[in-house]
Amino acid sequence: MNFQERWPQPSSLKQALLARLVLGLGVSQEQASLRDWFQATALTVRELLTARWHETNRQVRDHGLKQVSYLSMEFLLGRGLQNGLMALNILDECREALAECGVRLEDLIELEVTPALGNGGLGRLAACFLDSMASLGLPSIGYGIRYEFGMFRQEVIDGWQIERPDDWLADSNPWEFMRPERQYLVRFGGRVVHEGNRVHWLDGEAVYAIAYDTLVPGHGHYAVNTLRLWGARPVEPMDLATFNRGAFMEALSPQLRARTVVRVLYPDDSTIEGRELRLRQEHFFVSASIQDTLRRFRADYDDWALLPDKISIHLNDTHPALAPAELMRQLVDEHLLAWDDAWDLVTRVLSYTNHTLMPEALEIWPCDMMGRLLPRHLQIIEEINRRFGQQVEARPGDNQPDLFAKVSVIQEDGERRVNMGRLSVLSSHKVNGVSRLHSRLVRERLFPEFAELFPERFANVTNGITPRLWLNLANPKLATLINETIGDGWQRDLSRLADLRPSAEDDAFCGRLADIKALNKQRLAKLIAHRVGIEVNPAAMFDVQVKRIHEYKRQLLNLLHVIARWNAMRAAPEQDWPARVVIMAGKAASAYHMAKLIIKLAHDIGRRINNDPVTGDRLKLVFLPDYSVSLAEYIIPAADLSEQISLAGTEASGTGNMKLALNGALTIGTADGANVEIAEQVGPEDIFIFGMSVEEVAALDASGTYSSREIYRNSQQLQEVIDQLGAGQFSSDPACFWPIVDSLLDGNDHFKLLADFDSYWQAQRAVDRAWRDQPAWLRKAARNIAGAGRFSSDRSIRDYASRIWNAGYLPA
Ligand SMILES: *Cc1c(COP(=O)(O)O)cnc(C)c1O
Repeated sequence: MNFQERWPQPSSLKQALLARLVLGLGVSQEQASLRDWFQATALTVRELLTARWHETNRQVRDHGLKQVSYLSMEFLLGRGLQNGLMALNILDECREALAECGVRLEDLIELEVTPALGNGGLGRLAACFLDSMASLGLPSIGYGIRYEFGMFRQEVIDGWQIERPDDWLADSNPWEFMRPERQYLVRFGGRVVHEGNRVHWLDGEAVYAIAYDTLVPGHGHYAVNTLRLWGARPVEPMDLATFNRGAFMEALSPQLRARTVVRVLYPDDSTIEGRELRLRQEHFFVSASIQDTLRRFRADYDDWALLPDKISIHLNDTHPALAPAELMRQLVDEHLLAWDDAWDLVTRVLSYTNHTLMPEALEIWPCDMMGRLLPRHLQIIEEINRRFGQQVEARPGDNQPDLFAKVSVIQEDGERRVNMGRLSVLSSHKVNGVSRLHSRLVRERLFPEFAELFPERFANVTNGITPRLWLNLANPKLATLINETIGDGWQRDLSRLADLRPSAEDDAFCGRLADIKALNKQRLAKLIAHRVGIEVNPAAMFDVQVKRIHEYKRQLLNLLHVIARWNAMRAAPEQDWPARVVIMAGKAASAYHMAKLIIKLAHDIGRRINNDPVTGDRLKLVFLPDYSVSLAEYIIPAADLSEQISLAGTEASGTGNMKLALNGALTIGTADGANVEIAEQVGPEDIFIFGMSVEEVAALDASGTYSSREIYRNSQQLQEVIDQLGAGQFSSDPACFWPIVDSLLDGNDHFKLLADFDSYWQAQRAVDRAWRDQPAWLRKAARNIAGAGRFSSDRSIRDYASRIWNAGYLPA
């Protein structure tokens, strides 16, 4: 089918834009501001996509295709305008049409606020997956929360992170359709009454969840999928009697109360805070999403047995892990299915992706809290668990008498708690980790008993990134070079980037690659000067670590190396030290003091070394505030070196590592997460792997012999660096970084920075040597691009479709 024909011809684009501006927004052309032009352009793009959207939905119904409900608390989207224009293939036409009106498209693109409805990797993964599902024509609907305030804006004052509210809806959001007809009641609290076979959930409070739809356009495919985010509305909008007796504020409290549940994104994805509001948010979006999923199914089918053929419900981590309980509640209490039939459907419909092994990030809710907030769900979970207990006890030849305690969804040791990870594994037909290494650790360390009980459930799907955003959009010149070198087949199948491998030997190709990198670096150097007032030399190596600030990601290890390098340079300034600009960016969770202290340290080190005449522009350290998808689009194409230095066994996959390799940066990294698979793809010569392996870390832990102090005592280099920190060399307050020194020496260095330091130092020397031979470095960069083809989120989604969802595609 040729959808091109249904769109307005590019020649009429100018007319469409003017109509939106003048008739839609009520602004005259003479008076229109840039913001008006942005709104008019965005509305035009949205209009052009709606025909494809309706057609997609029609096709899904006509072909009876399975549809994936992708449940995620976070969707870290990028800006929509350029993406929409690219999907419509009218970027140049639009630029021209706007130019005729005296408007620069690039100004509009830069004007758009970047929605930040996610913390980091997990939310960005969900956004890449939406893009890939649409681009492959896989019918899906993303479900999440329309947070009124997304991830905070990060400001830095005197080196300290300050959080500012992200008021992203202040200018109206042109991309969403409010759907008042898609409205569901969500209940909290109250009590449960059993009446014969019927169960009634009474009293308590209720709010309406109301749908806001954002279009997710496919690239190279006509499909346009839906991202459905839930806003909240009170059942009674205001208390008129209260208002009339003069209590104006109090009268509005139903509004305020209802909307509290969607007010703000929890600014942390690596610890759980046992906060009731978070549990409320989880229930709110899960309940609405499942009501909507079942309604859509029932609109087309009247046989419940078809549910697993037509619907997959995917849990992006345990944040939506109330889904099995809510699905059981709706099927049994509301649709009156028998328990066993309902449970059979649940376990065939649900699947779950685990994103972390870190104990502090695993969701475990006190039964008390859950019983108060969700009394019926707690009952259902207890019943699921009781039946599971019977099944475990009845195992033939059971020689593990305490097995059930290890797998019980209700943890009985101490305060009774619900273990959401176990609930997810028990309720899902497939469970996957996000890299090969991580999936093995999910089986061996996190759920070993489940892996024995249900071996067929455990799978791997290695993460990926969308090349539309991270190559075409962020680095268009590189995309053009690749097109001109190997044709454009890679746009549909990124693994064809492997065809670039021979070009690494081609000087002309490498020369053009060098030119593109240089331009991207000049652009970033300008941005650095503009944002933080630091002049950097674009010819220096850009050494980049951009990601959430967290101890396990070991930004501190990077900083220790910067100090050690500075010391070494000052001790031997005559040596040939290749010039480096170390660039960091990332937000720290607002309550995470150590992470904020690491940001402070980066600034204080920077202030000291950036003004040192001895090292000059041979060493700079830059922290760019307010890391976001848009900032990543500037930094990543300009990177030469990609720092992926987590302690082995802590980073589930990483996706920043993939974006950077795809843009020709070389990785210095540990054998962790997807680094392992990147190393396989690019080859050992073109990556710098250092540090302990997962097995070595485990052995060190098991031996109980790790002593960071001993390493410190035996290393002059570390002594010098850590003593400088302790003595306040980088701070006007000598005690400022004592907590860091303490964690390294007295806290026995939980993430084993000192154990890996020497190996890291050696790897950095190897990086320096490699950099000195620029032609050889460029060949390595080219082979990194060629090796990154496996890390397309298209490949991830094909893997999910075949290994997890058993879902098919729309005809192309
Ligand atoms: C890709 C991305 C991340 C994830 O980075 P990791 O290095 O995998 O932790 C976080 N934030 C943003 C804005 C991203 O684009």
